[in-house]
Amino acid sequence: MPGKQNNNKKPAAPAPAAAASPKPAPAAAPAPAKTAEPKVAAAAPAPAAPKAAASASPKKAAEAKPAAAAAVAVAAAPAAAAAPAKEAKKGGDAKPKAAKAAKGGKAGDSAYPLEMNPPPEYIQHRIEMFERLKAKSDEEIKKKPREPITITLPDGSVRQGTSWETTPLDIARGISKSLAERVIISKVNNVLWDLGRPFEASCNLQLLDFENDEARAVFWHSSAHILGEACERHYGCHLCIGPPIDDGFYYEMALKDRSVSQTDYPALERLASNIAGDKQPFERLVLSKDDLLEMFKHNPYKVHIIKDKIPDGTSTTVYRCGPLIDLCRGPHVPHTGRVKAFSVMKNSASYFLGDAKNDSLQRIYGVSFPDKKQLAEHKKFLEEAAKRDHRKIGREQELFFFHELSPGSCFFLPHGARIYNALVELQREEYRKRGFDEVVTPNVYNTKLWETSGHWQKYQENMFAFEVEKEQYALKPMNCPGHCVMFGHRTRSYQELPLRLADFGVLHRNEFSGALSGLTRVRRFQQDDAHIFCMVDQIESEMESCIQFLQHIYGIFGFTFSLRLSTRPESYLGEIEVWDEAEKRLENALNKSGYPWELNPGDGAFYGPKIDITIKDALKRPHQCATIQLDFQLPERFNLTYRTSEVGEGKEWKRPVIIHRAILGSVERMIAILTENFAGKWPFWLAPRQAVVIPIAPAFNDYAKAVSQRLWDAGFYVEADVSEFTLNKKVRNAEVAHFNFILIVGAEEMAAESVNVRNRDDAGTKAKGEMMRVDELLVRFAKLKESKSLQNQL
Ligand SMILES: [Zn+2]
Ligand SMILES: [Zn+2]
Repeated sequence: MPGKQNNNKKPAAPAPAAAASPKPAPAAAPAPAKTAEPKVAAAAPAPAAPKAAASASPKKAAEAKPAAAAAVAVAAAPAAAAAPAKEAKKGGDAKPKAAKAAKGGKAGDSAYPLEMNPPPEYIQHRIEMFERLKAKSDEEIKKKPREPITITLPDGSVRQGTSWETTPLDIARGISKSLAERVIISKVNNVLWDLGRPFEASCNLQLLDFENDEARAVFWHSSAHILGEACERHYGCHLCIGPPIDDGFYYEMALKDRSVSQTDYPALERLASNIAGDKQPFERLVLSKDDLLEMFKHNPYKVHIIKDKIPDGTSTTVYRCGPLIDLCRGPHVPHTGRVKAFSVMKNSASYFLGDAKNDSLQRIYGVSFPDKKQLAEHKKFLEEAAKRDHRKIGREQELFFFHELSPGSCFFLPHGARIYNALVELQREEYRKRGFDEVVTPNVYNTKLWETSGHWQKYQENMFAFEVEKEQYALKPMNCPGHCVMFGHRTRSYQELPLRLADFGVLHRNEFSGALSGLTRVRRFQQDDAHIFCMVDQIESEMESCIQFLQHIYGIFGFTFSLRLSTRPESYLGEIEVWDEAEKRLENALNKSGYPWELNPGDGAFYGPKIDITIKDALKRPHQCATIQLDFQLPERFNLTYRTSEVGEGKEWKRPVIIHRAILGSVERMIAILTENFAGKWPFWLAPRQAVVIPIAPAFNDYAKAVSQRLWDAGFYVEADVSEFTLNKKVRNAEVAHFNFILIVGAEEMAAESVNVRNRDDAGTKAKGEMMRVDELLVRFAKLKESKSLQNQL
């Protein structure tokens, strides 16, 4: 049941646009067919900001090319804008072209002025209304009772304050000046709360900085307002939504007579920098639905959101920074000056509410930080991530490809299949040692099975179903129901438990074609899936072994990991005593593991508590691959029982508990993670190209082939390069292909039945290798493979 393929994506946090959280548009949504024609090239810059417009340098525009790593969408630079629909599909591929166009087109000298002149009319209308209603609201707040309150900090210390007066920022200042500068947002009684918003009564207070996930989301959300303000001022556009995302934020908007181009980035960044310099406070105001409709009447998208999301007769909040007043639940950083580094990353086309029947919109992505150094580091990180992109390396090393005739189902080429098989083999060896039994189960089941398991009711839309002989069948999206059939096909005794069934079965899940992405989101995949059928009092020892197992596997890859226990949610299935017992045993197992773990109360599945394991790769990116999930429900649904050792009524038969567990998770996705983690430099045991034998002249071709054959026969992935290329070219090719070892042979080596070994990761031996007898090399290769070492050391 677990084994989500791509579950480290956080759900999008609330958009600045109040309660609206429309589905993201498909990544490859075609752009509007409009082309931005630079028309006012000779027009004078707007009087409001002549200096700024002139100083937007071409160099900066060139730097502002989209980050290829995340570039599902493409920047619509003039050249790309001509055929946006086609470009958008190609994703990252279109980057060089767009970047080039930006450079060639004198990027900084945008044909457009920095700011609209005159500014869009709606700005004045909004401000007038805001100021009038804000004054009224301030009056009311003034009338609120000023009473002494206490504010309790997480360490238990208590501060004194006054209701409707003292703010979280006051408390932060009271502690230290540096804290007050560093803190991004507060939580009052566990609810996010603007730092400048007065406490209303005695409460608990937390102060969060940028390292905190929620605070970072608030920071990026606040930055989306800055981007929105910059866009209104530059384009005079109608804003839609602007949520924070995993790596920054975006704002979506409708533009008239123009589309977003990379050449606009310097202007937007310039404006963002001005806005930060202004230190515009984020001012909060509660407005009725009627007032909201009046305030945003110019903007059909905001009107739609207000009508759709805000019930009649209720109210919600708007926030103002500078001339921008936006529908938003908040909270925000105290003022725009907190955003000291801001960068526009890319842009793309989308549809309002993600629906192709709606208006075409433009989406601009940005990222921001509390200081400039962090932005520079982030950009370096993105560059490194782009270099490591598994789709790129997969292409370069000829590991795999995708074809439109089977979207989301990967073709693993011979070298990719070597990696795939090595991973499966790794698990298979461990299964023998750890008491798992591998089984092979069907791919296609009558939907009656899925009705019993509950998948048909809950998961049907993600399954591939079809009719055979007037019966409905479906491809399996997971192995568990098949394993339940296997457990139940004959009487089971307590002596057989724990029964650990492992399955590399092929799974299919019908993901939207628009959501498919390389190997991280696929329709066809295999897992190192296993189900442990056990008794309640075996849970603890099984969990301990599961944790040891994953510790062993992740250790091989060099991943560090963290553990999180999710416990009983409000609505749960089964008896509370069983839950309590199971949770206690999970805690015990976690404590014994010696690893730090966190409690995530109430976040378990309704059918059982679970442990989520998050690994960190070489770039410190988190991935969730493994899950250990307890299940009290499937044994019920399949009426699974085992004979106990006890006698007496109601004691003879009991239900087993199922533990779903996977360590690699989807093998496909793990290959993506490993490709990027190793940047294509595979450790020897996993490498699809372990060595190449290169003769220094054609006279030694036969010897090279003989050596290669010998190593191949011993089980290594070795080839001989007897092509027409020069020696230097061959060595260069082998280096680019990241062969772990390059074995050079000439007269001397042939005479001594030896090779000259050059090590991929050892700069010292690259110039002049080490001579080694082939016999000796075979022994050392075997040892290195066996050790599964991350060091490429013979
Ligand atoms: Zn399962
Ligand atoms: Zn907001």
